[in-house]
This record gives sequence, structure tokens and C-alpha cells, in this order.
Amino acid sequence: MSTEFKASVALRLKWAGAIALLISMIAAAGWSILTLPTQIVDGMLEADIRKQSEMWKRRVLLHMEDAEATFQTGFMDEHDQEFLELMPEASDVYRFKLFHADGTVFWSTRASDIGSKNTKPYFASTVANGELYYKHEEKPASEIDDLVLHSAQLDTSKPHHVAEVYTPVMRNSSFLGAIEFYTDITEIRDIFIMRVRLLLGALCAIALTAMVAVSVVLYRTNRRQINSLRTRSDNERDLLNEQLRLAREVRLLGELNEWLQSSRSLDELFDMVAKFMTHILPNAEGSVYVYSNSRDVLDGCASWNGGTHKEHIHPDGCWGLRRGRTYEYGATEVDFVCEHAEPHDGRPYFCFPILAHGETVGLMHLRAQHGSEESFALNKKLAQMCAEQISMAIANVRMRDQLHDQSVRDPLTGLFNRRHMTDRLRKLISRSQATGAPVSLIAVDVDHFKKFNDNHGHDAGDMVLRAVGSVLEQSCDGDEIACRMGGEEFTLILPDSSPTEVMTRAEKLRKSVEDIAVRYGEKTLPRITISLGVAHYPTHGTMPQDLMRAADDALYDAKAKGRNQVCVATLPHEAAETTAQTPPSLAAE
Ligand code: GH3
Ligand code: MG
Ligand code: MG
Repeated sequence: MSTEFKASVALRLKWAGAIALLISMIAAAGWSILTLPTQIVDGMLEADIRKQSEMWKRRVLLHMEDAEATFQTGFMDEHDQEFLELMPEASDVYRFKLFHADGTVFWSTRASDIGSKNTKPYFASTVANGELYYKHEEKPASEIDDLVLHSAQLDTSKPHHVAEVYTPVMRNSSFLGAIEFYTDITEIRDIFIMRVRLLLGALCAIALTAMVAVSVVLYRTNRRQINSLRTRSDNERDLLNEQLRLAREVRLLGELNEWLQSSRSLDELFDMVAKFMTHILPNAEGSVYVYSNSRDVLDGCASWNGGTHKEHIHPDGCWGLRRGRTYEYGATEVDFVCEHAEPHDGRPYFCFPILAHGETVGLMHLRAQHGSEESFALNKKLAQMCAEQISMAIANVRMRDQLHDQSVRDPLTGLFNRRHMTDRLRKLISRSQATGAPVSLIAVDVDHFKKFNDNHGHDAGDMVLRAVGSVLEQSCDGDEIACRMGGEEFTLILPDSSPTEVMTRAEKLRKSVEDIAVRYGEKTLPRITISLGVAHYPTHGTMPQDLMRAADDALYDAKAKGRNQVCVATLPHEAAETTAQTPPSLAAE
């Protein structure tokens, strides 16, 4: 059972309980209104009539000539009788009787009562003891004398409520007799009951209204408190989620940083960037561009999350690069779309210039994915931090590349140095041992360069060396590399070329160098030539040193044969013969 369903059932039960309570309270109030007033009114009327009966008794006794004697003898003069007979008309009493002390009626407004005797226990125990006795009875209308006089309601079908009071007549604490008064209380009782009912009804209504009002106020207060608690707990939950999100981002940024710092090349770095950015900003399509060496364009390096990158983009086509700071499309009323962001469908995007050591080296472009345009701007800070991490990592990789370059390249010509050449040759030879692919070496030495330096100066010599280096480098293709071994000596490693092809390439190089015309100040320097020695693996050696020595020997041959030419290394047995035949003067040269 779901929590929501349980909550809705609990709410319904609460409402049902409240309604049941209200109904039972209304029922209780109804019952009270119907029953309570009768008891209250009867009590009130009894008290009232008890008091009134004393008045009636006093009136009777005062108007009698000699009440004491009358009660003792039962004799009454005419005057007394006249007065007593008029009394029902002048009071609420419709009938009354006078008793002797023994309970015998000696006078009554109803003549038939005279002579009868009250033998009921209450007479002897209560009335004869000087106490008033009250009786409330329902009697048929026919029992009420002078009904017209005593009741405005002439409804004779219903019984009438009659109050009977026995009032003792005392003299010096001795009981002389009693007077019984009958009064019809039907009308006044009904009126009072009605009034009390109305009063009780009003009180109940007020109480119920007050209770309902208090309940509503309590309910509302409760509800407000629950709502405020709910809002607070929602806020706390949001805060917690926010903190968890931040912690996750910090962790991912830390991991990104760690991985990026350990990347060995820009390609590897961009692979990592693509993978991490997918996790860090899953609602953003992204791409990264890096300035080409020529710095006229930026090359697309990576893209992620459905983003694409163009092969090249122009720095002028990006507002972020042009203005040298983050460009946020969609943040202001008037926006211009970057050229590289075309075709553009209006989704917001960021362009973060990537800086390394103060120099702009690239661009990170992030675009909102479909459906996350609204929340996209919230990513700016995090994206900015990512761009900074990427910037630092690119700077690191570049610095490492530069250091590596410095350790493997010759500063004058930019060609690889001897150390790199030896490493490369070793690798190619071990590859050839597995694949059988050919590897050839061309040793190059500028002819009479000492003299050239002497004639034109060291600077001019440097320019020539640079020009030769450039020709050698341009002649290389694919895995081929040109190296400066030192001074005016160079070496080319040519894998995957046949001996014939290598010879053709060497001859071509010789000619190209011969054609070099270097401008130095106002003049063009005289042409220079090179001598070349060629050696093949494994024909002329299986170890790098052997092969290099063989190429050097061939170069020596070229020098010996008059320079500006190409010589191939001799086979080991031929070399032995040649050494034996070589005149001592040439060998010493
Ligand atoms: P050969 O034809 O027999 O090779 O004669 P060579 O004069 O070229 O040979 P040698 O080895 O006697 O002289 C090499 C010269 O190269 C000596 C030095 O002045 C010059 N040299 C070496 N390194 C540099 C450099 O970095 N710059 C300049 N300008 N000259 C250099
Ligand atoms: Mg030399
Ligand atoms: Mg030389």
C-alpha cells in the first residue's frame, strides 16, 4: 500500500470522526433541549408555587373573622364564605380546601369535597408536622373548575398540569389544620419550557458554533504548522540535495583534475574531458577546439553528450574568443550567435575561452540539451570551473610537450637530436625484426663547412644549417624522420622504403641542397653541397650502432670520392677488402 493512499485513508477517517462527533453533539444538544427544560421548569414552578401558596394562605387567614376558631370548629360565617368563594376568581387558585387537623375537609370551593378526609401518609407525616407538601399531577380538563377563567388555552383534549399544595395552619407551633390549593400551571409551564428550550437551543447553537469555530481555527493553525513544517522539511531536503549535488560536483571536479593531470597527450586529455563532462554536466552538449599551430584556425578536438564539433573554426567567428571572456548566449535581450554555433535553434549556450599561461589556447562550447534550456544558466559556474581545469590540464600537457620537445629536438634546426634518432632507430629495428619491413639510414655531412664558416661567418653558417635542415625535414613523409647529429652532420631514417627508392631519395636530397640559395643580408651566400652515405637494415648491420657506423663509412666513401655524392655502405666482406686496398694517405684524410 502506498504512503499516499494510507495518508488519504487516514485523512478520510479523521473527517468521518469529526463529522460523527459533531452529529453526536447535535443529538446530545437536541436530547437536552427536549428533556432538560421540563425538569428545570417543574423545579422552578414548584419553588414559585410554594412561595405563592404562603401568600394565598395568608390572604385566606387574614380575611377570615377568626381563622383559629374556624379551623377548630369548622364553622364559618357568611362574610368568610363569600370571600373564600370569590378567591378563585381573584387569584391563580381554581380550587382550595380547608382541613381540620385530622384531615377532614370542612370547607371547599367544590361543595362535594366537604366531609371527605385525607388519610394519605404525607398528610400526617409532612403537613401535620407544619411542613408544606407539594404535588404535581396531570389531570383531565374536566377536573379543573372554572377552566375558562384560569386558562387561555381551551384545549380540553390534553391533560392539564396541576400543582397541589398543602399549607399547614399553625398556632403556637401546634397544628390547627391545613389549606390545599389547586392551581393550573399548564400554560405557564408550557411558556417557560418553550423559553428554556429556546434559551438552551441558543446556548447550544452558540456553544456548537464556538466549538466549530475553535475547531476550524485549531485545524487551520494545525494545517499552517504542518504546512510550515512541510515547507521547512522540503527546504531542508532541497538544501541536502544541493549539498549532495555540490559534493558530487566537487568530487567529479577533483577526479577530472586528477585524470587530466595524468594525461600524456592532448588526444588522451580530450577523451577524458568528453567522458567527464558527460557526467558533470549531463544536460549540456559540448565540444572543445584548440588553436592550430598556425593559430589562424581552431581545430575541433572532441565533443560529447550529442554535441558535434566542426573540423576547423575561425577565432573571429566566436564571441567568446573575440571578447576574451565567457560568452553566454541567451542571458541578455539582444544576443548574437557565434559562427561555429550555426545552425542554431535558439538554445542557450556558453563559449569558454581556454587559457594556458595567459594565452588563449582553445575554446569549450556548451549548449543546453533539448528540454533543459530553463535550468541551463545554473550550470555556468560549474562549467566555468571545468573550463579552468581543462585550461590548466592543456597548459600542463603543452608544457610537458615542450619539455619533451626540448629534450628530443635540436634548437637550431628544430630537427630531432641524436638521442631521439638512436631511440627511434632502435624501435624501428625491433619492429623490423618482427615484421621484416626494411629500414634505411642516410648519413649527411655538409662539404667543406669549416671553410664556409671561415669565409662567411658563423651566423651565415647557422642559416645554411637551418636551410639544409628544413630541406631534409620537408623530404620526410609518414614515419620518416630527419635528425641533426651535431655540427653539420645529419641523419635520415627511412622505414618501409626499398634500397632503390632510398638511393633515389638520397640523390634527390643532394640535388635539393645543391639548389639552396640562402640570402644573408644584402647578398646571397654561395651554394653548398652535401655528401651522403646510405646503409640498410639488416644488410649492413643488425644493431643501431652497426647501421650508423655503416652509413658513416659510406659517407666517408662519398667524401673520399670527391664529395657532393651518394655512396652505399659496403657489405662486411667488401669492407675488409676495401680497407686492405685503400692507400694509407686517403685512409688518413
Ligand atoms: P668536410 O667536407 O670534410 O666535411 O669538411 P668540413 O670542413 O665540413 O669538416 P670539419 O669537420 O673539419 O668541419 C666542420 C665544421 O662545422 C667545423 C665548425 O666550424 C662547423 N660547425 C660545427 N657546428 C656548427 C654550428 O652549429 N654552426 C656553424 N655555423 N658551424 C658549425
Ligand atoms: Mg663533419
Ligand atoms: Mg663537413
